[in-house]
Amino acid sequence: ASYKRIAAVDDKVKAFITLDEENARSYAKQLDEALVGKVEKGLLYGLPIGIKDNIVTKGLKTTCASKILGDFEPVHDATVMGKIRSSEAIMIGKLNMDEFAMGSSTENSGFFQTRNPWNLDHVPGGSSGGSAASVAAGEVLFSLGSDTGGSVRQPASYCGVVGLKPTYGRVSRFGLVAFASSLDQIGPITRSVEDNAYLMQVIAGYDKMDSTSANVDVPDYLSSLTGDVQGLRIAVPKEYLAEGVNEDVRNKVLDALKVLEGLGATWEEVSLPHSKYAVATYYLLSSSEASANLARFDGVRYGVRSDNDKNLIEMYKESRSQGFGNEVKRRIMLGTFALSSGYYDAYYKKAQQVRTLIKKDFDEVLEKFDVIVGPTAPTTAFKIGEKTKDPLTMYANDILTIPVNLAGVPAISIPCGLSNGLPVGLQIIGKHFDESTVYRVAHAFE
Ligand code: GLN
Repeated sequence: ASYKRIAAVDDKVKAFITLDEENARSYAKQLDEALVGKVEKGLLYGLPIGIKDNIVTKGLKTTCASKILGDFEPVHDATVMGKIRSSEAIMIGKLNMDEFAMGSSTENSGFFQTRNPWNLDHVPGGSSGGSAASVAAGEVLFSLGSDTGGSVRQPASYCGVVGLKPTYGRVSRFGLVAFASSLDQIGPITRSVEDNAYLMQVIAGYDKMDSTSANVDVPDYLSSLTGDVQGLRIAVPKEYLAEGVNEDVRNKVLDALKVLEGLGATWEEVSLPHSKYAVATYYLLSSSEASANLARFDGVRYGVRSDNDKNLIEMYKESRSQGFGNEVKRRIMLGTFALSSGYYDAYYKKAQQVRTLIKKDFDEVLEKFDVIVGPTAPTTAFKIGEKTKDPLTMYANDILTIPVNLAGVPAISIPCGLSNGLPVGLQIIGKHFDESTVYRVAHAFE
């Protein structure tokens, strides 16, 4: 059914880079045959899942939507892929994204543009645009994305589906191609909050292969789906409803707060005063980390190599010049500049200090409240091409998701209505390692 649906709609949506039909069918057959006399099925038994193309899959092309990795076949699986396999879900294929997860619209894919299934003239969001669009278009039941500054939540919001960025350290990053290692997290994208909790149950947990993985018990997420929000204390940051947030979006969020009030929760306006520095801080830190992480793509160890064999340096230069797209080059230059001696204190060090202040803002609010609620993005999905000329306008779009990554806390985006026929996303932010409360609040809407 999944491949049939893909055949019917993916020439319009263009969510998939690679399909793995033969292996998927043979695994499905294997599961069917093993069913006879089988007592316990895997938690995701037989369910079709799509994977963002920056999560490595053994023997199956993993491109990060970059020409430099156009023919790269990993020799091992990411930790999450092993977990998916043990859950008996069926991997359908690899999903389009902004190149190396840098972007908010999937317009930076090195291959092609994914479109928003709600309106094909609009972007699906990014960088996990393929992951969100494939679920919204009914091509797969769920998918995995990655979220460094909003890349699971923002596309989920734009495509009217559910996307969770787990607490930093909750899900193993082993086998996730690194963009900004101190911010990256893999997250589930699904149609419902319940499905999301199922997928999260499978992928969460400590992994000794990831040095930043947290050795913290994983609770039973499904048991938190009670719908009970009686007595829950909600903080609403005034910065999240301020100017720049579209009026329709603001009203949908206020409507959602009314629903929660009706169920016995209370809310109060608070302030996250350092949020205004989040975009600048994030783009300095993430580009710095990216410039170091992407040094490994040199035409020797992975992927595509230029045939310029004049000398080693020329070969590096040409492989990288031809292999990387413009946005990736921009980030590498920004990061290299910010890390260079003489500028380090003024940029990178300063940004680290501001990051601490942003995290403190969240810690203080979450000491008094159970969750923080606001919109996921300031607007609904914008038109393809609308923001490509000005990178700063594109960056500003992440203003409501980025602070969450800098603070390391978990957050979900769930649909909360339509504006001009396009979905609006509600963001629910929780305490460190408290995905359960985030799910409980989100589930109250189902
Ligand atoms: N849009 C942000 C960026 O371009 C976030 C990307 C992400 O979360 N991977 O960096």
